[in-house]
Amino acid sequence: MRTTDGLENRAGSTMPAVTPFDMKGDGSGQKDLRSLDLPQLTEEVERLGEKKFRARQLYQWIHVNLADSFDEMTNLSAAFRERLKREYTDTTPQLLERLVSELDGTEKYLFRLWDGNVIESVLMRYHHGNSVCISTQAGCAMACRFCASGIGGKKRDLLPSEMLGQIYRIQRISGERVSNVVAMGTGEPLDNYDNFLCFLHLLTDENGLHISQRSITASTCGIVENMRRLADEQLQITLALSLHASSQEKRLQLMPVARRYDLSEVLDACRYYFEKTGRRITFEYSLVAGVNDHEQDAQELAALLHGMNCHVNLIPVNPIKERSFVQPEASACAAFKNRLEKSGINVTIRREMGRDISGACGQLRRGYLERGERP
Ligand code: SAH
Repeated sequence: MRTTDGLENRAGSTMPAVTPFDMKGDGSGQKDLRSLDLPQLTEEVERLGEKKFRARQLYQWIHVNLADSFDEMTNLSAAFRERLKREYTDTTPQLLERLVSELDGTEKYLFRLWDGNVIESVLMRYHHGNSVCISTQAGCAMACRFCASGIGGKKRDLLPSEMLGQIYRIQRISGERVSNVVAMGTGEPLDNYDNFLCFLHLLTDENGLHISQRSITASTCGIVENMRRLADEQLQITLALSLHASSQEKRLQLMPVARRYDLSEVLDACRYYFEKTGRRITFEYSLVAGVNDHEQDAQELAALLHGMNCHVNLIPVNPIKERSFVQPEASACAAFKNRLEKSGINVTIRREMGRDISGACGQLRRGYLERGERP
């Protein structure tokens, strides 16, 4: 039997689902225009008694011109714009803070949502293009021991438009094109499955920003049934699995979600994802000094992943003040990497970005909430 110990508000809990068709989750049926695809938007526009082609204009304003407000949509009549403002809540994230790293140009964004929740996103610059790391939930229910996002639990799921909005706003504010998207910010994308899938559909739509599926990565702590569902969608996005340990026992010490899914089940789901999509799995492994960085851990990890078409991303743990976890020395990280390479495993050590601006997951948001700043 599965238990939910330590994991609050998981799928199947009593927390209402927040959907584009009931965005307040209270049955009032309040719709989120920015989360509708073109056919849904067309239906909505016709319901309002407007001509069909208005839907295309509206869609273009939202998903191509990245308009922040209805007021910008100047080819729509003033009366129609007023009606939209009255009847729909604008879910565009509002910028609270933008921090630019002096070390590597990484930018962190803190946004306020329409209901007062606060989320963070990151813009990272690489030679191959700009990558945005988005949050998929306000807070997180997974409570991984080393992660700042889980402290304080999950507030709510983000709507598709709120995931898109982070990318759209960052592209507008920075004035630079976003080419890659990673769902590695606060939240568990596969614990907000329907909204996350709708987000992917809109993000890759040829009538919208049209980001290629291969330029998108979803990172999960391992919600097995939804990993399998995602595999069945047969998309070309990369799946990253937060592994962090080479055995079920050790994983249990770091990640409460391991109580629900045994490591063997999680790895089977990874193999299934590869079979269905042909996409190589990325395994994320946060190196924590004295916890999972021993020679024996590397050996076990190599054995565990033997024969899998995968890539291992080692992340020296980003210390958070609520926990005493520390990074191994650079030489220990290198030794761990070498040990895996010797076994023929493809591995990189993730370059730390934006260290001077609260780089780790959820740290910026946490700092903001702790300072007690109210929207
Ligand atoms: N919920 C998803 C995505 C969010 S976190 C998941 O679990 O994958 C993105 C990655 O950063 C995960 O691998 C997570 O375990 C890791 N992470 C979180 N806090 C960290 C920290 N302080 N140091 C290093 N990695 C961290």
